[in-house]
Amino acid sequence: MNADCLFCKIVAGEIRTEMVAESDTAVAFRDINPKAPVHVLVVPRSHHADVSALAGADPQALADVIGLADQVASDLADGQYRLICNVGPKAGQTIFHAHAHVLAGTQLSGF
Ligand code: 5GP
Ligand code: ZN
Repeated sequence: MNADCLFCKIVAGEIRTEMVAESDTAVAFRDINPKAPVHVLVVPRSHHADVSALAGADPQALADVIGLADQVASDLADGQYRLICNVGPKAGQTIFHAHAHVLAGTQLSGF
């Protein structure tokens, strides 16, 4: 755990958030500023700065994040979803604990 990391604190239960799904290696909770009817963040329990670092250190944990994201999209929407991982400030990353955004529940526009 990184003591300065918001998502580590959420994983540890130090900041209360409504969890929508959990596994041994990842947790899923609603984004505080949703961009779609379903906007859930899926984060590994272990601290890595971004999914690039996670992929290098623990590819199975990254696979688990994607698996939990897929489960959330089926449970909360119709299984159709967009998965976004921002890596680095240029991509818009603001929280430096690896995470995936699940966006679903509406017709999403193209890029
Ligand atoms: P990023 O821009 O790093 O890919 O995404 C970070 C996301 O975390 C943003 O969509 C932001 O709304 C969300 N977020 C920031 N602080 C909190 C918080 O305290 N609780 C929750 N649930 N989401 C947060
Ligand atoms: Zn962290």
